[in-house]
Amino acid sequence: MIPLQECAHEREVLDLVIAERWPDRCDPDVVAHAAECEICRDVVAVAMEMREDEARVEADIVAASPSHPSVVPDATLVWWRSQLRAHEDAARQAARPIAMVQGIGIGFGLVAVFSVTRFAWPWITSYASGARAGASEMVARSVASSGAAIEAMPLWLMLSIVAAVIAAPIAVYAALGRE
Ligand SMILES: [Zn+2]
Repeated sequence: MIPLQECAHEREVLDLVIAERWPDRCDPDVVAHAAECEICRDVVAVAMEMREDEARVEADIVAASPSHPSVVPDATLVWWRSQLRAHEDAARQAARPIAMVQGIGIGFGLVAVFSVTRFAWPWITSYASGARAGASEMVARSVASSGAAIEAMPLWLMLSIVAAVIAAPIAVYAALGRE
């Protein structure tokens, strides 16, 4: 068996054990999974032990001061929870810049397509009307100048859009990476 570092169910299993719902009052699928999964089995074993410790501490506190039954959480349990939370936060933080960069990339892509269409549209329509007018020298000249412009403009436009599309996510990634 490949030793896994983490399991998607470990938090759920831990919460169920802590909530004293394990194994009777929880999803049978999760119980079945924990029987198969090495990580969840460990989580159950450790959490059960901690819960027993906690119950003992609780009993001691209650015995010592029956008027204050509120319980100080076991340090190990607090540590375990904070570890899991840090683990989840790290995973979330790793996923966030990637999602953002993808979103920005898609946004720039859409802007690029829109801009190209917008800039090219007058030339497209003038080509169409030029074709319709046929022999008119004026139209022929405007088509010729438009033809020269359409060759120069989209290249310039395309290059700056490509540069923006490449540079923006890198800048965002670098800024987030420095956090
Ligand atoms: Zn598992």
